[in-house]
Amino acid sequence: FQSIFWHRRDLRFGDNIGLFEASKNSKSLIGVYVLDPKLLDLNRTTSEAKNWFLGESLIELQKNWEIRGSRLLILNGDPIELISKLAELVHAECIYWNENIEPYEINRDKQIAEKLSKEKRKVYTFLDQLIVNPSNIKTNNDEPYKVYGPFYRKWIDLINITKSSENNLIQTSETAKQLTGLNERELSSIKNSDLNYCITNKSKSIYELLSLNRFNKTNLCPCKPGESESIKQLNSFIHSGVINSYNKARDIPSLENTSHLSAALSLGTISCRVVWNGAQVSKNATDDEYKINSIDTWIKELAWREFYQNALINFPELEKGPYREKWLDFPWQNRPDWFEAWGDGLTGIPIIDAAMRQLKCSGWMHNRCRMIVASFLVKDLLIDWRLGELFFMKSLVDGDLAANNGGWQWSASSGMDPKPMRIFNPFRQASKFDEDGEYIRKWIPELSHISTPNLLSGEISSAERNSYPKPIISHKNQTSIFKELYSNIK
Ligand code: FAD
Repeated sequence: FQSIFWHRRDLRFGDNIGLFEASKNSKSLIGVYVLDPKLLDLNRTTSEAKNWFLGESLIELQKNWEIRGSRLLILNGDPIELISKLAELVHAECIYWNENIEPYEINRDKQIAEKLSKEKRKVYTFLDQLIVNPSNIKTNNDEPYKVYGPFYRKWIDLINITKSSENNLIQTSETAKQLTGLNERELSSIKNSDLNYCITNKSKSIYELLSLNRFNKTNLCPCKPGESESIKQLNSFIHSGVINSYNKARDIPSLENTSHLSAALSLGTISCRVVWNGAQVSKNATDDEYKINSIDTWIKELAWREFYQNALINFPELEKGPYREKWLDFPWQNRPDWFEAWGDGLTGIPIIDAAMRQLKCSGWMHNRCRMIVASFLVKDLLIDWRLGELFFMKSLVDGDLAANNGGWQWSASSGMDPKPMRIFNPFRQASKFDEDGEYIRKWIPELSHISTPNLLSGEISSAERNSYPKPIISHKNQTSIFKELYSNIK
């Protein structure tokens, strides 16, 4: 009988739990991806860079379905209607998908599952997006963790228990091989239907729908779309030995010594278990303490990803506002001219502008710089962190509700982190992490002639600065205003 596998944040064949189960249990299987307008809103939920990553990954995924003898249909519209319409057209008895963790998707999927059950179809869902099942990560009092440290210890303990004893790795699923897809009659009924079916001549192409051509920074973006590129990226990070020096190098933005797998992990062109196994294999292959520490540090980043996903599952209200309620009363100043200068990389503070220009030019920003610019927006410019969060979502190739919200709440000190008042001095951060000014010079070429000490301290004379703006604020003055405003909140 016919079954449907619905791809969502799992744009791959390799180690895709739901897809493997669907292929094992179905005589005939087709894939579907729905371009859900609520998740593709360039003013709210996505960016041109992320659309480009999504579109290119879908094109590869579609080829992979065809190679295996079936098809991936890409539909455009409301999944609640479309999944059930498609099921009816192809007489599908079973629909499979991997669960998502974001509030909108959880609610949407519940409605779809109910609709399908009423239509007497079977729905099978799987947990695929996280290494450890969130329902197992609870404190001794059966409560969710609110602090990363204890969360991490529990997370790694659970991995150690679940990983197979023979090879010391996390179990992954096999890859679905040969599939049987639609027959000609079923295919023509879809083509003639009113399903908003794209990548055919009948309807708009995926290029038009996702405005793929609008993101023209593809050679500067370090995240490469598609399952095959994601695997290459993981292998090169691990086999070229970059992972072995991650401990130190991860904080130096000019080195680009991180994996750049964030978009792949967010949209699922690679599985988190495969990534974890890659790290574990290289850890097992060495007894050098320095390398082992580096690999462990990287694994801790994977745990941060799961920490924020768990946070969103357990506290969905995080999506809307601060975890610490005190922040609801903070008197934000939200000056539009400062927000614009920040977004355009024209604040006159070199490390901030370099980072924001990296984002603008490539769709990606180094983690250290994300922390610096976020702190600056909130604690120097006194602008509501939620505006920064939205700006990131509209710009990043790896924009991800859980990680982005977690990163912003951490930087704003409004989140669950027990150390609430962290203020980054942008000049000190630049001196520490860009000591020869290489990163600043790369992204602000008009400052390339400035001496390194002046570049880092921001003390650039009017004669030397040419078109580069003067600092829009004084870090010292602004942060003392910030502290006073904060301490005045009841
Ligand atoms: P690596 O250093 O190679 O890390 C490996 C993987 O671990 C990453 O790909 C990512 O999946 C995960 N990871 C690493 N650090 C974090 C972290 N702090 N929180 C959650 N997961 C992490 N990450 C996103 O994926 N999407 C976002 O929208 C996002 N927004 C952020 C906003 C702010 C204000 C901050 C401070 C951080 C944000 N991060 C976000 C986290 C982090 O900056 C990126 O995951 C990282 O820079 C991606 O580069 P990489 O793949 O080379 O990471």
